[in-house]
Amino acid sequence: MKSTETSPSAHGLKKSQPEEYDLVILGGGTGSTVAAWTFAAEGKSVIVVDRKYIGGSCPNIACLPSKNIIHSAKIASYFRRSKEFGITQDGFAVDMSGVRERKRNMVSGLNEMYLDNYRKTGAEFVFGTGRFIAPRTVEAALPDGTTRQLRGENVIVSTGTHAALDAIPGLAEARPLTHIEALELDRVPKHLLVMGGGYVGVELSQAMRRFGSKVTVIDRNERLMSREDKDICEALGNLLADESIEIVLNARIKRVSGKSGDSASVVFEQDGTEKSLTGSHLLVATGRSPNTEGLGLEIAGVEVDTLKSTSACRRPRRAYGQLAKLRAARCSHTSAWMIFV
Ligand SMILES: Cc1cc2nc3c(=O)[nH]c(=O)nc-3n(C[C@H](O)[C@H](O)[C@H](O)COP(=O)(O)OP(=O)(O)OC[C@H]3O[C@@H](n4cnc5c(N)ncnc54)[C@H](O)[C@@H]3O)c2cc1C
Repeated sequence: MKSTETSPSAHGLKKSQPEEYDLVILGGGTGSTVAAWTFAAEGKSVIVVDRKYIGGSCPNIACLPSKNIIHSAKIASYFRRSKEFGITQDGFAVDMSGVRERKRNMVSGLNEMYLDNYRKTGAEFVFGTGRFIAPRTVEAALPDGTTRQLRGENVIVSTGTHAALDAIPGLAEARPLTHIEALELDRVPKHLLVMGGGYVGVELSQAMRRFGSKVTVIDRNERLMSREDKDICEALGNLLADESIEIVLNARIKRVSGKSGDSASVVFEQDGTEKSLTGSHLLVATGRSPNTEGLGLEIAGVEVDTLKSTSACRRPRRAYGQLAKLRAARCSHTSAWMIFV
């Protein structure tokens, strides 16, 4: 079994001689983690470099923590409706720090489970920020300031995505929440404005409403979850409206002012009229951008192009030359990528 230590500083000395692996994986998200465990279990030498998360977004900041929080919100909604089920109770309170603690415990348990599987399969995991310095060669900058150079017979790039922040005047200055901060709240927002009615915006809107927030969702399209079938969108819109979530559609956001966590205002145009909304918190959920900046993909022989559905988004396009064995897989609604070079 190989080490799963995060900072093997001795490796940093071998700058001119990259360490050789059968498979080097840059970015340890869901797909690439499974690939790492599978190939390592078959006897291949495998190393995964991730700058922050054991297991990537899904178990740490996305799918699983959001479902954990959503489950707490569902319990809150049952408490609120208990009379409907013939159960009486004398009020209840939502303690968001307790909700968060439950989620954090789940995440750390998952991290342990992942590390255990790394140990069992023999795949190596290191924390580090990686970039290509030569074809099939990644340099990982480790947390202790040293570097490791890793050369793979095959290299998988799966660096995932991050929440897109549109170039709307005042938006960045308002320090909006993304799903990451929303899943770490220790208080229920008084009035949450949600920019974007896709699956992230919708699921977090419903959860926060159930915890007791007033929630307003603002979307540029004529219906929520606009990429889904019309009847699904309508049913979902009705469901949210039943829970008194305010939905503002066909709204072009023009500018934002104030600060999320204090007071934030959104000015938008709807049917030719300028309108504004003010809330205590602002959540952006308007799409995802691939993490391709600074990876040195051009050195690896991977071209990137622009994905029109999210702003300023540079996605990997194809590999060429010696590295023509490219298979890029895009998860349709999340812009998730895995590239084999
Ligand atoms: C709030 C939310 C809820 C979601 N819920 C669901 C759900 O219920 N079901 C579902 O199927 N999907 C869900 N998704 C989508 C799902 O999380 C993603 O599709 C999936 O995590 C993408 O996996 P990935 O491997 O492409 O990227 P990631 O899991 O993001 O992995 C990429 C990794 O690369 C690392 N990285 C980036 N750059 C570098 C670098 N230079 N060096 C080293 N490491 C780097 C990152 O730290 C990250 O760990 C949700 C997403 C969000 C945001």
